[in-house]
Amino acid sequence: MTNKIDYLNLKEIILQKIKENGGWVNAHAHFDRSYTVTPELFKLVNKKRDQKWLLNKDIRKNSTVDQIYDRIAKSLELMIEQDVTATVSFIDVTPDVKDKAIKAAEKARDAYKSQILIKYICLPTYGVLKKENRDWFEVGADFADIIGSTVKTDSPHEEEHIDIILKTAKEKNKMVHMHVDELNIPEEHETELLARKTIEYGMEEKVVGIHGISIAARPRKEREEVYKQMKKAKMIMVANPMSWIDGWRSEVMTPTHNSITPADELTKFGIPVAIGIDNLYDIFKPMNDGNMWNDLRLLMEANRWFDIEEIVKVATINGRKAMGIK
Ligand SMILES: [Zn+2]
Repeated sequence: MTNKIDYLNLKEIILQKIKENGGWVNAHAHFDRSYTVTPELFKLVNKKRDQKWLLNKDIRKNSTVDQIYDRIAKSLELMIEQDVTATVSFIDVTPDVKDKAIKAAEKARDAYKSQILIKYICLPTYGVLKKENRDWFEVGADFADIIGSTVKTDSPHEEEHIDIILKTAKEKNKMVHMHVDELNIPEEHETELLARKTIEYGMEEKVVGIHGISIAARPRKEREEVYKQMKKAKMIMVANPMSWIDGWRSEVMTPTHNSITPADELTKFGIPVAIGIDNLYDIFKPMNDGNMWNDLRLLMEANRWFDIEEIVKVATINGRKAMGIK
């Protein structure tokens, strides 16, 4: 037997406060692709990102509605187990998936609606500029609760891409979740472009950035400019620490930083930060087990940020804001 030591158990305190604030909110995920790292695919796990991207293409094309349903259902059960009370998930709506993920998502929402609030975000995985991609984007945008995208999928036509996404969301009176600045390189300026466009379209309070890690690769003065723009646009940022802890080693000179969303700085500038698990047991993140606490802890540790009140908001009310829950 040891003597009782009066130490501060931060995990216990934070988990208790999360419960008191309505439970965890997972503000970013791709449940239609989770649990797709099979023994066969794992052999390819060390391939380059582009090749993995193609692998996902095969998965998208070949999966049945039932297989997609099982992935979403298993992911939702993992969330419910952890007292996650609300979650979003992107679903691919593309010329190769067609409406399979929509059908699976509807069925999953119905099956789990008494246990967890789920909102779906359509993902035009190959961009929105080509006609056939645009057509399926329209289908996805009609179905989805929130309009989603990855700005880079239409590179170098990022502005045009954002125009289409924001215009569609405005017409349909829906929020936007957009993957931005995720490569941890200083030349990415997607967050500030999105902030500027958000103001241009009068979409303040309706736009959420996902990742935003490249902001930290830029000098302080530039970062602060980005934060000011985001604040003006009333944007929210979702951090997914585990999913980008593997940011590549690089020879590019930048201010010393890590590959985690600078949540402490964003918060200081009045921009709400939420948290998500992103990829779950797939070919990009074969070991990501979707543990909300691990993600939150990593966010705190990587930013040396232990402001308990703000951290609890990240795990709860900021996520609800990002989901458009009043
Ligand atoms: Zn994502």
